[in-house]
Amino acid sequence: MSFRHLRIVVSVVLLIAGSIVSSYAQEKSTLTIDELLVQAGKEIKFSPEKTTDTLSKLQAFQSQFNEEQRDRFYVLGASAFGFKGRHKERVELVRSIIDKVTNPDNKVRLLYQLSSGYTHLGEYEHALVAMNESILLLPKLKSQFAKMDTLQAAITLLNSLRAFDESLAYAERLVEVGNEDEKTSVKCVGVADQVEINLLRGERQRARAILPEAIRICDERGSMVISQILRALAAIDLIDSGNYLQGKGAGIPLLKEFLEVNKGSDYRTQLEEALARAFLNTGNLEQAEHYGVLSYQHAKSGNAVHLMEKTAETMASIKRAQGQYPSSLEYYEAALVLKNRVLDDQLHKNLAFQRVKFDTQDKANQMSLLEQKNKILAVERELEKKNNQNLWLFISLVVVILVVLSLWLIKTLQQKNQFRQFSQTDGLTQAANRMHFISFANDAFKMRTGSVSVILFDMDLFKNINDTHGHATGDWVLKAVSETVKTHLRKVDLFGRLGGEEFGICMPDSSQASALQLAERCRMAIAMIDTEPSGHMFSLSASFGVATVDGNGLSNFDETLEAADKALYRSKAEGRNCVNVFRQAS
Ligand code: GH3
Ligand code: MG
Ligand code: MG
Repeated sequence: MSFRHLRIVVSVVLLIAGSIVSSYAQEKSTLTIDELLVQAGKEIKFSPEKTTDTLSKLQAFQSQFNEEQRDRFYVLGASAFGFKGRHKERVELVRSIIDKVTNPDNKVRLLYQLSSGYTHLGEYEHALVAMNESILLLPKLKSQFAKMDTLQAAITLLNSLRAFDESLAYAERLVEVGNEDEKTSVKCVGVADQVEINLLRGERQRARAILPEAIRICDERGSMVISQILRALAAIDLIDSGNYLQGKGAGIPLLKEFLEVNKGSDYRTQLEEALARAFLNTGNLEQAEHYGVLSYQHAKSGNAVHLMEKTAETMASIKRAQGQYPSSLEYYEAALVLKNRVLDDQLHKNLAFQRVKFDTQDKANQMSLLEQKNKILAVERELEKKNNQNLWLFISLVVVILVVLSLWLIKTLQQKNQFRQFSQTDGLTQAANRMHFISFANDAFKMRTGSVSVILFDMDLFKNINDTHGHATGDWVLKAVSETVKTHLRKVDLFGRLGGEEFGICMPDSSQASALQLAERCRMAIAMIDTEPSGHMFSLSASFGVATVDGNGLSNFDETLEAADKALYRSKAEGRNCVNVFRQAS
């Protein structure tokens, strides 16, 4: 190998190695990005404060992100800002990317971040606009959970704006989404929303009517947390409607459950507040204070203004009942301040909602239409598929029936043909039998356009053959004669055995001359049959008579047959083994 060749080989090897290393490195970095994204996803759920580190590591790879990775990175970044209460940055981050996002599932996640960010900033109009945009994407979402998250975000926002009609409509839609798959918790979330919205808007009867069914659905689908919340709402409702004993009986064990699961829940605070009122109204001030203080503290740490207001008011009542007026006054004052804040906030929200409402309704209608259209399309597609299936089934059935019918028809026709052949043929010689010969000849005479000839012949001294060589040899002769004669016939001629050792040939469109010629040829052929195969050596001959319908005064078959017979007898009389033609004059 020359030096030049070696150089080429080395550079090719280096090139291949390089490309392997670089593709490996690329794969490695993709893996790292995905791993980091999964890690950040876990952190945001369980310890959001750790996410910052992971996100800053991810930031280093930003130039290598594919679209999916980029979207996930932004969603995580926005949620991290949300957990830190940095809603302004959260909103800005989402807005910087949202227009570039094409995957609907990712887009609704980012829109949720935007809407939630705006809500925290008190910019309800913007929050509603973002929510509307995500609702419009509903028909494009593939996963049931993406649909659920989108609808649930809308319901939470609308509930906080006290737009209950609208949130109830979305809750109903959520139930519909849940009906698409019986296994997920989506339907449970939807019915739980319906219960809560009815309670929030003061429709207690309606809420009570659907509560047991809602609890059953959630238990069935294994959504223990939501089932727990629903049972808390039921207990609170009992207390709110004056059934203190029952309310306490249901509520106290539930509080223990909340301690085990869902400790930080607002519903736990609500239940404690209701229990405080139940004890207050049944005269147990000690227990009332116990639950009242708990609820007030939890409301404060949860930073839920309306719950703080409510618990402060309950505490004021408890303190007043205990005769601790200064303390009661303090709670009243706190409640009043909070009430003003709640009212202010509510007013603000109401205004925003009214401004966006028309837009919301319009878009909700559009979306509802779109969804309806999608559903109709899906049903149509299903129907078309079924129709096609049915059509194929029908075609296959028709084909099978046709094949069976055709087979049956072919068989029947074959049988009929066989039967006809059988009924028209002489068993020994396979020539036409007398009946068929006569019917064929009659037709030929009736439909004739020219002359028709009939040849009759009778074996000479046949009785002698039978007598000398036996009946079987006689039969052999009859077969041999038939086979020999047949080889001289045209397709249109019919050869028949008219009885015993007498045969006939019917020749349509045949002159007397050609009939005579054929008779002569058959006579010679018979005379030349070699009888050795029969086991006996003897001579054979036949006598012929020919008659033709053509200017002989003959007009039909019967007359012609009779005439041929006469000619045949003349041959017999003239010493046999000869042909005679019938002539009128003779
Ligand atoms: P001729 O030349 O005058 O016609 O003499 P022949 O002996 O042929 O005439 P005849 O009518 O006296 O005899 C015909 C014989 O043919 C009588 C009968 O036994 C015989 N025969 C008729 N049908 C059959 C048959 O199917 N098989 C056999 N082996 N013989 C038959
Ligand atoms: Mg004979
Ligand atoms: Mg005879």
